[in-house]
Amino acid sequence: MDLDRFSKEAHGLVDWMTEYLRTIETRPVRAQTAPGTIESQLPPSPPQQAEDFQAILDDFERIVMPGITHWQHPRFFAYFPANSSPPSVLAEMLTAAVASQCMLWQTSPAATEMETRVLDWLAQMLGLGAGWHGVIQDSASSATLVAVLVARERATGWRADDEGLGNCPPLAVYTSAEAHSSVEKAVRIAGLGRKALRLVPTDADFAMRPDALEALIRADLEAGIEPACIVATLGTTGTGGIDPLAAIGEIAKRHGIYLHIDAAWAGSALLLLETRWMIDGIEHADSFVTNPHKWLGVNFDCSAHYVRKPDELIRTLTVNPAYLTGQETGRVIDYRDWGIPLGRRFRALKLWLVIRSYGLEGLQAMLRRHIALTDELASWIAAEPSFELTSKPSLALLSFRYRPQGLDDAALDELNTRLVEKINDDGRIYLTQTRVRGRVAIRFSIGQTTTERHHVEVGWAVVREIAGTL
Ligand SMILES: *Cc1c(COP(=O)(O)O)cnc(C)c1O
Repeated sequence: MDLDRFSKEAHGLVDWMTEYLRTIETRPVRAQTAPGTIESQLPPSPPQQAEDFQAILDDFERIVMPGITHWQHPRFFAYFPANSSPPSVLAEMLTAAVASQCMLWQTSPAATEMETRVLDWLAQMLGLGAGWHGVIQDSASSATLVAVLVARERATGWRADDEGLGNCPPLAVYTSAEAHSSVEKAVRIAGLGRKALRLVPTDADFAMRPDALEALIRADLEAGIEPACIVATLGTTGTGGIDPLAAIGEIAKRHGIYLHIDAAWAGSALLLLETRWMIDGIEHADSFVTNPHKWLGVNFDCSAHYVRKPDELIRTLTVNPAYLTGQETGRVIDYRDWGIPLGRRFRALKLWLVIRSYGLEGLQAMLRRHIALTDELASWIAAEPSFELTSKPSLALLSFRYRPQGLDDAALDELNTRLVEKINDDGRIYLTQTRVRGRVAIRFSIGQTTTERHHVEVGWAVVREIAGTL
């Protein structure tokens, strides 16, 4: 494709994107395709000759778009948001055009230096306090894996990195029973084994119980097991539980245990002074992760990972082959040493564009709107006798279930599972299920950039309408 054609097609695609976003509400939120539908329309072998670009675009519309679930739809209430915004999309276009590999300072000094500065901005916006060093990872899962690796090395005096785990004492990692699956994955990938993971019981608000944490640590110490890492969560996935950092941090400090905070979703709410209480006690934490790619209008992927001691991170991960060293090695930041992959996209650019385009106040207004809408929705649910809240609103997440009279819990589980399936087949909204204290519940998560009150009203009306047909 020559650049004249590129220019023509690019302008056409910008028009397509604009129209897509303008009319997104006319599409079903969740893709309505059966497994295999898309693959069966794609030829089994690649073309030998060049194809016309317009024909490819036509296939994109005809074959691909029906198989897309529209995450930027304002009636997307499933999972957690992975919201985006026009400035972020424009930044992704620039990133794609420049197409730099930002693994070393030298391979694009601007990418490295902007990453450092814009993560400092974000730390200020989040109120994290002084003494943090930030890096952008592809996902919170990666940040948590890296945290567990550093904790493992700290606990073994960097022997595991050197000799493997064979000669090291058994280690334990603690997280709440409501924590994200990425914690177990990290423990397994780090070679500690699933049995090294302790799931700490939670309290009535789905938050980790510090007394139970302390008891598990003591039992491990008595058994000759080394407590290596605590992963606290702000905003658990099922119910939005917020672990008490001050009490957990005190325990971590007393026993000398590495403390990582997973605030993948809820961290964005730290932009609001009224929810800053969540990080009371953060001074005891060793690392912290939040995903601007969830709730801050920044396209996936952009996970902000902060550490107190970058030298520990670098010591755990660095490998220095001759072909990756330059004359400034050691004097500048080479972010390749701060994470798992070598290659890195220029991800700071979209964070920079979003923060500058909306300002702190614009982003705060979006977060406040989502939280207020969630509180309002909770009041509508509470007022409906055949529904119950299964967890109170936590920021912009709540869960509920349909509970008509006279059914036992097993029947209600079955009913609510069918309800969520019917809602998603309908297509006007998209919700996902979870289990709360063992029972099936439906999560309602509000966080799309363009979601307004009338979208939530439609959402609640659809739930009641479809429940009425069961
Ligand atoms: C979404 C989420 C994750 C995983 O985030 P990725 O960036 O997709 O890896 C981890 N922990 C919590 C609490 C989450 O909400």
